[in-house]
Amino acid sequence: MGVYILDEFIVRVYGTRWNRVKQIAEKDKVIRMLYWGDYVEIKTISQNKRKDSSRVDIKIYNYGTGKYEEAYIKKKRKKIKGSYTYLPLKLRSENLLQVLFVDVQQGDASIITLPTGEKILIDGGEGKFVARILAALYPNSSKKDPVKFDSIIVSHGDADHFSGLFEIPESESNSLKRKRVFLKTNNIYHNGLVKSGERTLSKAFGKSVERNKIRYVTDLWDDPRDAVSKSKTFKKWDNVINHILDSNGTIKRLKFGDNEFDRHKKNGIDIQVLGPIVEKVGSKEGLRYYKNEKGSKSASHTVNGHSISIRLSYQNVNLFFGGDLNIDASEHLLHHYGQQPKKISVRSEILKVPHHGSHEFYVPFLKSINPVVSVVSSGDENVSKDYVHPRASLIGALGRASRNDKPLIFCTELAAFFAYMGVAIKPVKVIRPSGKTETLNYSFPAFNRLVYGAVRVRSDGKKILVAVESSSAIKEYYVLTVDSLGNVSFDDKPSII
Ligand SMILES: [Zn+2]
Repeated sequence: MGVYILDEFIVRVYGTRWNRVKQIAEKDKVIRMLYWGDYVEIKTISQNKRKDSSRVDIKIYNYGTGKYEEAYIKKKRKKIKGSYTYLPLKLRSENLLQVLFVDVQQGDASIITLPTGEKILIDGGEGKFVARILAALYPNSSKKDPVKFDSIIVSHGDADHFSGLFEIPESESNSLKRKRVFLKTNNIYHNGLVKSGERTLSKAFGKSVERNKIRYVTDLWDDPRDAVSKSKTFKKWDNVINHILDSNGTIKRLKFGDNEFDRHKKNGIDIQVLGPIVEKVGSKEGLRYYKNEKGSKSASHTVNGHSISIRLSYQNVNLFFGGDLNIDASEHLLHHYGQQPKKISVRSEILKVPHHGSHEFYVPFLKSINPVVSVVSSGDENVSKDYVHPRASLIGALGRASRNDKPLIFCTELAAFFAYMGVAIKPVKVIRPSGKTETLNYSFPAFNRLVYGAVRVRSDGKKILVAVESSSAIKEYYVLTVDSLGNVSFDDKPSII
């Protein structure tokens, strides 16, 4: 038994699968897909080398049951002189760069694994999604042996980007072991703004000053734990930080130009902090108020616009993450980059589309990024959040701003997959005009989420695999190669085993 790293792009794993729709166990079914760079636990490696052995026996973790189960991979076969020879499964010695864009409904969450194995989480969404997915990705974590993250970056302090992190400590006491995740991080990064519940702009972020007709927030918090009295959400956040931050860990406010991530350079990973832009206001540091489309200063545009923006580079491949950047902020960032003594490039093959695909995007900014693969993280899961993201105009603009004729635009909510389970009955209490209370059986169509809407990106610094899952087999995936000048070519027929 040994754990190896896959060097095939996509591999089908066969085993016994519980058919939730038919309610029966089915043998020799595709139970999972494995992707380039995944770990695979092979029972006997000699079986992989044997030319007459048609399959490789493996052990695989079942997310549903929380247990490891027996499974196998069918080897590729080739006809040589009339008889079949089975080709060994390709394995590699080095890890890849991996990014998992998770469907957290309305919100953002990206789990990054560097080739060193170090993990970075950008945003934690809202609700239980991130905690559940972390529990599935890192089974068997415990208080004694938690999963270790290098960093958690909270792009900005809006609930849909970090309140999902509150579910991580909650999960530890879940009655189901497979839903528990114990996590510690060495670093937590944030943008320094604490938005209170106050709706009036002047009270939303605390103190501000005006210089040359521009108003700046000067209440910037180096440690949000000092701001617990400012916001109910930050009071909860305080407890969560204390829970998940390693005892030797650091919490830091990030800004444009910080060389905080230079520690990864020795391993070939360059992470530039490209926003927010902190400006000198007298003796203080300030973040300017950003404006909405009508030109009025706005609290939500200010907190969104000052999202931590980073560009991660690994050899020829670059990724841009810009939280909830909007028009005013993007314009300001581009102008600022243009004024730097050293050229700043935001050009990136992979773009986490800002602000869930909102209509408030800045075309020159998208053109500067000039992406090949764009991922929108959105979800209109209930009537109070019917933002209708991503907007049609944004999808069109992204297409035009992209580098090639067939750009790839993914959307996490469209990558999820549901099965119709029948009609469910829910008792609902109603009060009649007479004042009498009655219980009525309300019937509604019930759907089961078979596949989480995750968009997977894997890269060795030159080739990129992008894939989304379907219910039983992979239906959409692409392999592309990026050269040192950023020219992109698509592989014609990347094979599935
Ligand atoms: Zn958001």
